[in-house]
Amino acid sequence: LGVDHFFAPPKFGGQDPDQPNVIMVLFDALSAEHIGMNGYRRDTMPFLTELSKKAIIYHKHYAGGSFTSPGTATLLTGTYPWTHRVFRFNATVNPELVDHNIFNVFDSHYRVAYSHNPLVNTLFKQFENNIEHFQERQSLFLSRDNFVGRFFQRDYVIANQARREVFEGTDGNPTSIFFDFLYQFLVSVERDGLLQAFEEKFPRGLPSLEDNNYFLLEDSIDWIREVVTQTPQPFLGYFHLWPPHNPYATRFEFVDAFEGTHAFPDKQQHILATEGLTGRQMKVRRQHYDESMLYVDAEFNRLFHSLKDSGMLENTWLVLTADHGEMFERGLSGHFHRLLYEGVTHIPLMIFPPGQTERIDVHTTTSAVDVLPTLAYLSGKEVPAWTEGVVLPPFTQKLVSEPIPVYTIEAKNNPQFLAFQEGTFSMLIWPMKIIFYLGYGELEDPKTGKFEVFNLEEDPDELADIYDPKNLEQQGLIAILMSKLDEQKTFQ
Ligand SMILES: [Zn+2]
Repeated sequence: LGVDHFFAPPKFGGQDPDQPNVIMVLFDALSAEHIGMNGYRRDTMPFLTELSKKAIIYHKHYAGGSFTSPGTATLLTGTYPWTHRVFRFNATVNPELVDHNIFNVFDSHYRVAYSHNPLVNTLFKQFENNIEHFQERQSLFLSRDNFVGRFFQRDYVIANQARREVFEGTDGNPTSIFFDFLYQFLVSVERDGLLQAFEEKFPRGLPSLEDNNYFLLEDSIDWIREVVTQTPQPFLGYFHLWPPHNPYATRFEFVDAFEGTHAFPDKQQHILATEGLTGRQMKVRRQHYDESMLYVDAEFNRLFHSLKDSGMLENTWLVLTADHGEMFERGLSGHFHRLLYEGVTHIPLMIFPPGQTERIDVHTTTSAVDVLPTLAYLSGKEVPAWTEGVVLPPFTQKLVSEPIPVYTIEAKNNPQFLAFQEGTFSMLIWPMKIIFYLGYGELEDPKTGKFEVFNLEEDPDELADIYDPKNLEQQGLIAILMSKLDEQKTFQ
């Protein structure tokens, strides 16, 4: 077991060993819209459906952002992007609010954190004083990318960008032909060897992120099981796993599982869908993504049963969620774009309480900001006043007179500490969803922006934009969203 501290470990004053543990497992880019249990046309997670018989399922759960940085920061801080200010690529939390994080709230727990995704490590680094066991990301890879991963663990993303400039050149021309050749050669030798070794098990290629960071989800699952059984209790474990994120490298038995089946509604090309994918391209990518969800499903099932067999779940709250989803429509695929349709914003949340014996379905609209206050409450901690979330049903029976709006924010091009001038903002007060586009050059009037309105009850596929500036109900909803965004003007 490679315990790879590179944060100075804080002192652990473990208080009550009878307190339950918390294990959070996050699958990157796992869309709730693609889960059969939620009405998706393909049965992408059959094991999860089985496990859900003894779980709480949040059917209308939403991400705070549409890619890793804002989505994860929202989950870990219990606040929205306009508060934590993580909406740019690889952004960090507003330094004044850095103590507002889930690890700090669980200060009586031993805290373990791991992420395949370097954008999450950027956040972990900010929270390092609140994490006892930080597992270095490349310790679970089959290979380490040459140079960068080995020597610049702490500033991986920045170092990797610098490496790209040196070896690939900013305009695509390598600064140094010789070093680029050497680098590419070393990378390719390692890669070819690995790909060959796993060719049969992963016919579409090995799971990987960037360059030659190859890994097996199986190894990460084995490591999680190992680390949690060796960790002082009570603990909080946060495990951020890359699949089903692209490249959709599924295991051999799932390849072509959904080949040629199922039709999906055609959606009109969107004005902001600059990728311009054809229907055929979107269909193939969707199929490969769905097939990699089968891999995630099988491995989560394996983790669940090994935790259960070890007795760990008797005294542990297990949480399954995602940072954002994925979509294949309107000329786009993936999530690193400017659209906030359900594929990207609607994410799974399942809570497995210790000793749960029945299934509980929650149909209230919930947000990633609610996870921190809920877990704090369940662990007997004071719910911090600074969270923008609430303790979720069924744990609170508080009658809410009005539904709570949930928000998703995309503003990767907006300066971190300025009011929003460019971005996409969605607000959902079930069943009405408002999407507001601001500042994009493609819009008729970028400064005024553009609205779309959908009724998700009648139109779950968001096919009919029913925005009507004369509709008073819609104007009332838009006013709520606009007043939220107006609060940001203090940043100017
Ligand atoms: Zn992500």
